[in-house]
Amino acid sequence: MRKKLKKSVYLVLFIIILIGGFFIYRSFSNNNKKYYSDEAIKVIEEENLSDIYKEDYSKTLDTILKNGAYEAEYLEEYLKIDYVDNDNFTSYISKFLNIGYNGNEINNIFKLSEKNQEKLLDLEKKDFSKYIGISNFNIDNLERYDAYLEETNKDIETVVTYVNINLDKPFYEDSTLVENPHDLTVIVNKYHHLDKDFVPDNLVTLFDSTNGAKMVKEAADAYKLFIDAAKKDNITLQSTTAYRSYSFQNILYTNYVAEDGVELADTYSARPGSSEHQLGLAVDLNDPTVSGSRLDDKDYNWVLNNSYKYGFIVRYTEEGVPITGYMEEPWHIRYLGVELATKVYESKLTYEEYYDLYMMEY
Ligand SMILES: [Zn+2]
Repeated sequence: MRKKLKKSVYLVLFIIILIGGFFIYRSFSNNNKKYYSDEAIKVIEEENLSDIYKEDYSKTLDTILKNGAYEAEYLEEYLKIDYVDNDNFTSYISKFLNIGYNGNEINNIFKLSEKNQEKLLDLEKKDFSKYIGISNFNIDNLERYDAYLEETNKDIETVVTYVNINLDKPFYEDSTLVENPHDLTVIVNKYHHLDKDFVPDNLVTLFDSTNGAKMVKEAADAYKLFIDAAKKDNITLQSTTAYRSYSFQNILYTNYVAEDGVELADTYSARPGSSEHQLGLAVDLNDPTVSGSRLDDKDYNWVLNNSYKYGFIVRYTEEGVPITGYMEEPWHIRYLGVELATKVYESKLTYEEYYDLYMMEY
C-alpha cells in the first residue's frame, strides 16, 4: 500500500517537472525560429530582430520579411494580420499600413472583393466595418450607404442593395445609358435607359398578334410555348403590345402626362428610353374572355407561377412597387431565358434586386 502511494507521488512529481521544464524551455529558447523561412531568418539576423522568435510564429511576418517589406514601426500590426494567399499580399499590407489602417482593419480589407481592395488603395482611410461580409458591397457607394442607413434605418443588407440600385436618388434623376442593349439580361428602368436610336435585332411578329406586335426572335419563340401551355391549362391569353420604338413610347408617355400629369403617369408608363418594351423582350398580355380588366385573378396567378418555365418573369409585382416605381402590372412579362427567369422567380426578388445581388461584380 505504502509502496503504491510512493510510486504515484513520483509519477506526479515527474509530470510536474516535465510540464515546468517545457515552459522554461519555451521561454528561454528561440523556439519559434524553426518555423521561419531561411530568407526571413537572414533578415531577422541582419537587423537584430531575434525578439520576433519569442512571439508566436506569424506567416504574415515571415512573408513580409522574406519579401523585404519589413518596417519596424509596424511589427505589432503585422502580427495581427491573418495570412491570405494573394499575390498582392505583401504590397497591399505595406500600402494599407501607410494609408493608416491597423492590422485588424487590414484583415477586414482582405475580406472585401479584389475590386474593392484595389479601389481602396487610391482612397484615404475609410470606415467600412459595418459592411463586412455583404457580398454586393461597393466601396464607391460607402458615403451613400452611410447616409441612407441614417435616413431610413433599414437593415444593412437592404441599404447596400437599395443604394446600389440607386433608390436613394429620385427616379430618373441620375439615369445612365445602357451599354449592352442587345444582352438578353439587361436592366432597363428609371435609372438605366436606352439610346433613342436603339432598335433590337431579329424582331419578328408574334404568332398571335392582330396588330403586328413584335419581339426579339428568341423571346417570340418562347412566347408561343408559353401561350400554348396556358391554353392547355384553360387560360386564354393574347398579346397586345410588345416592341415599342423610342418615338412611339414618347407619344404614349406624352399623352398620359397630358391626361394625368407627370407624377401619376410615371407610376404606369415609362418615359421614352426607359421602357423594357424598347428591348423587344417585354410583352403585355390580355385575356379576351375577361371584361373590365386585362387579366382576372386566375389568369394572373397562372402567369405569376408558370411564366418562368418559358423564360419570362412578371416584372412589376405589388411587392416590387417601391423598387420598380411602377404600380402592379400583372400583364407585363419580360423575357430572360428559362434559366435566369427560374432563378429570379425562385428568389422572390424584383429583377433589380436579383441583378444587383447575383449578377453584378463589385
Ligand atoms: Zn408593358
